[in-house]
Amino acid sequence: MATLHTMGQQQDRRSWAEPYKIKVVEPLRTTTRAEREHAIAEAGYNTFLLRSADVYIDLLTDSGTSAMSDRQWAGMMLGDEAYAGSANFYHLEAAVREHYGYKFMVPTHQGRGAENLLSQAAIKPGNHVPGNMYFTTTRFHQERAGATFHDVIIDAAHDTRSLHPFKGNIDLDKLQALIDQVGAQQIPYVSMAATVNMAGGQPISMGNARAVRELCNRHGIKIYLDATRAVENMLFIKEREAGYKDKTLAEILLEFCAYTDGATMSGKKDHLVNIGGWLATNDPDLFEEIRNLVVVYEGLHTYGGMAGRDMEAMAIGIGESLNLDYMKSRVGQVRYLGELLDQWNIPFVKPVGGHAIFLDARAFYPHLDQDAFPSQTLAAELYLDSGIRSMERGIVSAGRDPASGDHRRPKLELTRLTIPRRVYTQAHMDVVAESVKACYDRRDSVTGLNMVYEPKYLRFFQARFERR
Ligand SMILES: *Cc1c(COP(=O)(O)O)cnc(C)c1O
Repeated sequence: MATLHTMGQQQDRRSWAEPYKIKVVEPLRTTTRAEREHAIAEAGYNTFLLRSADVYIDLLTDSGTSAMSDRQWAGMMLGDEAYAGSANFYHLEAAVREHYGYKFMVPTHQGRGAENLLSQAAIKPGNHVPGNMYFTTTRFHQERAGATFHDVIIDAAHDTRSLHPFKGNIDLDKLQALIDQVGAQQIPYVSMAATVNMAGGQPISMGNARAVRELCNRHGIKIYLDATRAVENMLFIKEREAGYKDKTLAEILLEFCAYTDGATMSGKKDHLVNIGGWLATNDPDLFEEIRNLVVVYEGLHTYGGMAGRDMEAMAIGIGESLNLDYMKSRVGQVRYLGELLDQWNIPFVKPVGGHAIFLDARAFYPHLDQDAFPSQTLAAELYLDSGIRSMERGIVSAGRDPASGDHRRPKLELTRLTIPRRVYTQAHMDVVAESVKACYDRRDSVTGLNMVYEPKYLRFFQARFERR
């Protein structure tokens, strides 16, 4: 009893709080269990098909769901909506150059727009693209351009219990083996993600990026970064990798990007905006090509599918994302949720990544086989319990093998609780944790789902299910 009051304990108990205060509020709506039963059945047990008005705490995604700052909203009023040469484009271009270090960029409507342009410009049919695990839209565009994708992430990334500090790392032996097998001239670039979304928001280390660069230099292979959550990745490098403790996030980001030849960006994540993206490169020939392609698919090269005001908000958001207090609270909120779940021994991917908690649905429901869609089931159960919306990241998201037509069977069956940036408080995290626990306590009674409608492309968005 006395120990609680000792100085040491007192200091250990000092709390942190979100480094912002609330200026505008958006009321949340709660629903009854009966309303939720109705809503999820209507949605075919797919959380993507729920209406947001029926959702209480929305952890579907951190994509485009950030709360913008007062500065960003002020920036929206400075939108220069000229068709060509908008002032906001030059602000955005300057921010990308300053903080990511790339010479050339085009804006795109969002990340997949950039992926489409890069894939079309750089990939020839029959090529091979290695990457540290896949991302749905990224791999889709690579395959559509005629490439075969190869996962070269380290094995630890596929092991939900591994505590490797950089589970996003590329396995240099796997990469070398692919080069030996298909030849360097068949590999237009290495697709390097930081952090790795599908692995649980796991970071890649600076040492690994440097080593991949050296290997690629020996073979004349380029590296394109998926920079969607790169600033989050830089916090992990600062915290976990020797030599970076005293560097700023901005310094670490510049060094990291210098090991790559360019990047695709979904501004809907790190940049704290609701829409937008960009593609950047240091290669003048590739830039020439993408500047031609952007007008076909996105818009003129000085707006690329974004309004001027959106480019301004994004330029401001880039600076805000590099603020250490902000980034610590961003990742800290995810960790806080993880700590709550850990108290009850709820199975999830560890260490906790940058943007989400990935519940381990296989461990949740050991009695369900993969064809009963355990992650999809858990997402539906969570919604039914409390109106919290999460997302499947398992066999549904993995889709079918284009050659064989069979389900791809990922080792990981995960249900993702994705934390929007600056939107919810620690109290919301408490509510979420308690709902997960309620589902965990009831896990034995759950019977799984059957898929009754399967779309051709990126099926997880629109597939429909029925209870088994
Ligand atoms: C969201 C995302 C993308 C695609 O970006 P959109 O803006 O949704 O088109 C690409 N890569 C990763 C890692 C992402 O999380």
